[in-house]
Amino acid sequence: MKIFKEMNKYGHEQIIFAQDEEVGLKAIIAVHSTKLGSALGGTRFWNYASEEEALFDVLRLSRGMTLKNAAAGLRLGGGKAVIIGEPHKLKSRDFFHSYAKFIDSLNGKFHTAEDVNTNTNDIAMMKEVTRFVAGTPEVSGNPSPFTARGVYLGMKAGAKEKFDSDSLKDKVVAVQGIGSVGYLLCQHLHSEGAKLKVYDINNIAVEKAVKEFGAEAVSAEEILTTDCDIFAPCALGGVITAENASQLKCKLVAGAANNVLMDANAADMLEKTDILYLPDYIINSGGVINCGMEVDGHYDVDIVNAKVDKIYDTTLKILSIAKERKISTYQAADEYAENIISEGMDNK
Ligand code: NAD
Repeated sequence: MKIFKEMNKYGHEQIIFAQDEEVGLKAIIAVHSTKLGSALGGTRFWNYASEEEALFDVLRLSRGMTLKNAAAGLRLGGGKAVIIGEPHKLKSRDFFHSYAKFIDSLNGKFHTAEDVNTNTNDIAMMKEVTRFVAGTPEVSGNPSPFTARGVYLGMKAGAKEKFDSDSLKDKVVAVQGIGSVGYLLCQHLHSEGAKLKVYDINNIAVEKAVKEFGAEAVSAEEILTTDCDIFAPCALGGVITAENASQLKCKLVAGAANNVLMDANAADMLEKTDILYLPDYIINSGGVINCGMEVDGHYDVDIVNAKVDKIYDTTLKILSIAKERKISTYQAADEYAENIISEGMDNK
């Protein structure tokens, strides 16, 4: 991969490659933008097949954070970090202390929080070394409940547009990934009377959803192609491609996973098949709204909840921009966020 070419493509400011052989740390921290303020984004711990794959992921995810934070109304820039390796083999206090020293060396240019395979305990260990972390157990805590609530509200807004009613009662929702966010999303949906179809690579998570929510378990292939009203990807990104988009049998895509679409061609294909796509970073911003308040230094859960509730209106706004301008919802979200960044810079 030509690194500077890739950085130029989306305007990344800085990439840090962090290594500590003693504890087995290999991390990449990508600061995409500090135009609106300090960059905020989670740390993902994943056993990537290659270093290129890790770099590709962190570049895409960090740009997504810039857009997500701006669209959520946070005065923060965007960044992300990935740690390469097996979490259960590598995690230790020394490991997170070493990683936290690299975060600290950025002196506040980047704040990090939980993401896939990192949790509040890991953040608490990092806090022993650096103050540039959020999602600590004693302040904002686990972001997942806020993310799940935001996705649920965004989904209701999408339903209003697509089905003329925001009620999800009796709607069939196929949820891919029943982890921290997926499970809580299922809880919201079940409470409203939606019917669930679920798949997770972890059988225990599937069994729990079947038992607690009366969900129907389907296979890895079926979760994408099963008959449903709404497909909710809540595992990893890149699940919808230009090739598989035409096989989806849902009418709406609304999930928590970042970078659900492989690329712009996937968005075009969804549009051609009349499937409404709710931009991931608009509806999954509840968690970062929660962590962002901790970075601000004046954490107040009521204000956080009020901001998460606004995801409903923001989603409707994006859908109306897309309709008015005859552009995809994906482009409408990017334009919406980029305008906020330009206006924010003008007002600096
Ligand atoms: P998690 O690790 O708790 O859950 C992910 C779940 O997906 C796990 O149960 C895992 O077994 C499952 N999974 C992995 N690969 C799969 C596959 N190929 N098919 C089906 N299931 C698979 O993570 P999470 O915190 O619930 O986050 C889920 C997604 O939402 C991630 O993409 C994350 O980046 C995104 N997200 C999370 C938050 C948050 O607050 N946690 C915020 C914004 C975005």
